[in-house]
Amino acid sequence: MPSRYIGRFAPSPSGPLHAGSLVAAVASYLDARAASGVWLIRMEDLDTPRMVAGAAQTIVKQLATLGMHADQPVVYQSDRLAAYQTAFDLLQMKSLVYPCCCTRQEIADSTRIQLKTVIEASQVKQTTQAIQAIQASQAIQVSQASQASRATLFDQRINLALKFGDSVGGQFASQAPPTPQPPPTPQPPPKPYPGICRHGLPPNRAARAWRLIVPNQAVVFDDRWCGRQAQNVSQEVGDFVLKRADGIWSYQLAVVVDDAFQGVTDIVRGQDLLDSTARQRLLANALGVIPPKTMHVPVLYDKSGLKLSKQNHAQALNLVQPLECLKSAWLSLGFAPLAVHDLASFWCDATHIWRNRFFKV
Ligand code: GLU
Repeated sequence: MPSRYIGRFAPSPSGPLHAGSLVAAVASYLDARAASGVWLIRMEDLDTPRMVAGAAQTIVKQLATLGMHADQPVVYQSDRLAAYQTAFDLLQMKSLVYPCCCTRQEIADSTRIQLKTVIEASQVKQTTQAIQAIQASQAIQVSQASQASRATLFDQRINLALKFGDSVGGQFASQAPPTPQPPPTPQPPPKPYPGICRHGLPPNRAARAWRLIVPNQAVVFDDRWCGRQAQNVSQEVGDFVLKRADGIWSYQLAVVVDDAFQGVTDIVRGQDLLDSTARQRLLANALGVIPPKTMHVPVLYDKSGLKLSKQNHAQALNLVQPLECLKSAWLSLGFAPLAVHDLASFWCDATHIWRNRFFKV
């Protein structure tokens, strides 16, 4: 068992807790209690356009109703802007950041041009092989991609189909919806960022965002739930944004600065954030802080296969029966049902089982 354990739950107050966010809250709370550690709540309220007035207070009340109480006062990221600036200044002093003028459209266009250039440079046979490789890699990506990246992949496929005819692009074309639906909210640009501004802004262009220079090497780490992970951030994400075009500090920067500031030793959160961990480890390294251990627990999906989230209009928790909410989160974590009849017994038994599973030497 760790001698000093500090865990945290870091919701974005864009609405009340729902069944999906509860799973992460329960897992992080159980891990901290099983380790006889400290459990903190941090409100990730930087993305002001998405924040909902009163949601932070609602979340704290919901957690209290479920028997989860933080060991220290709640930290709000909106109070910590100076700390993000200081971290950014340090990275700038180390020449690890650069301004970027690219719009989403320009990044998408540049990715398309790169793809075309590669294809045009090949002979017919090589071209076919290149397309097959792209198809295969896109098939893998499509199975994992968000709806937005799917739209981009479809775009690339449509380009291929137009260029080479249906015999090459046809399989793509037949799978692609005739008119991809516009996404409801702004979506991330295609990955990886192709490094357009890495060596300076083009003439007469102004900085929109600021990016971190990412080394071309694999980041390897052991996740306590998902096992060994490896990601080459440079190849899969590219130089990523620290300060957004709207002037808001990025989630990646804020989370690393705050985990270090709060002395967090263990992050327990949903598997949708597993993909961010390599970026956060790179940033921690660049800032000279020790990255916390991580445990990425399963996330819940709705009937249409979308992650249960506030953005997808997940229902707020019905706290008329708090014990039922906890029991169902417990089942979602893959444990057998608990025959308990009150909150205190739930936490006692669940903590005991969690400790045996994750901390027994
Ligand atoms: N604020 C993030 C969310 O609500 C979680 C961030 C984290 O745990 O690192 O999804």
